[in-house]
Amino acid sequence: MSTSETESSQTESFVPPPTPQLSLLLELQEDDLALDRLAYRRRGLAERVAVSELGSRLAELAARVAEAQEQRDKLASQLLTLDQRSEAVGARIATIEQRLRSGRAGSYRDEQAMGEEVASLARQRREIEDQELEVMEALEPFDQELTALTQANSSAAGELALAREQLGIAEAVIDDETATIRAARDQLVTRVAPELLASYERLRAKLGGIGAARLVGGACSGCHLQLPAGELHRLRHAAPGSVVYCDQCGRILVLTSDQADR
Ligand SMILES: [Zn+2]
Repeated sequence: MSTSETESSQTESFVPPPTPQLSLLLELQEDDLALDRLAYRRRGLAERVAVSELGSRLAELAARVAEAQEQRDKLASQLLTLDQRSEAVGARIATIEQRLRSGRAGSYRDEQAMGEEVASLARQRREIEDQELEVMEALEPFDQELTALTQANSSAAGELALAREQLGIAEAVIDDETATIRAARDQLVTRVAPELLASYERLRAKLGGIGAARLVGGACSGCHLQLPAGELHRLRHAAPGSVVYCDQCGRILVLTSDQADR
């Protein structure tokens, strides 16, 4: 423990300067709070919100594309089946007509039966073609939707790339600032006595990031509660270099000479 160069005075208004160790601790506390604020800012960056929102939009678009594509595929497969049926009917008509033309039909009755079959097949083919038209009409809106979705998707993907870039820039600014403060903190830490540092770290982890507090106007700046007069008197006359704790919140309490505590 370091000893203060000033002897404690008996006058009530005298506030002993904080020992170098406690001053360092206050500096450390400031750095830690600055780092906490930077981390908080980094997490809550508007650019991060934008990236997340665009990510959701892209996921939603992908789901809509999948749904439209599935419907479209169903119709396309129906169309293929109809097309195959229409071709088969056409081939059958061609075969019969070929036989009729070649004169291998046989009797007149056979010829008549074949003619009737051709007429019936032709009717069937027209029906199939009508169905094909219906399916093609049903396909059209899905094709339009898919085109629109593809456009929306590519524009959202472009926006996302840009938003990611902007997030990267914003993060880099905070990271630079963080690195500077962290380097200063790393330096400070080597100068703080290990037991004091351990005590501070423990309190900081437990008490919302604040392990060391100033005494301001007779109140603890950690819990903002006014200290009883007797307690103040005890603190002011504590042995130089001793570490005192707030009775109410348990934080390390640092009396600084620039505050005229009465
Ligand atoms: Zn307190």
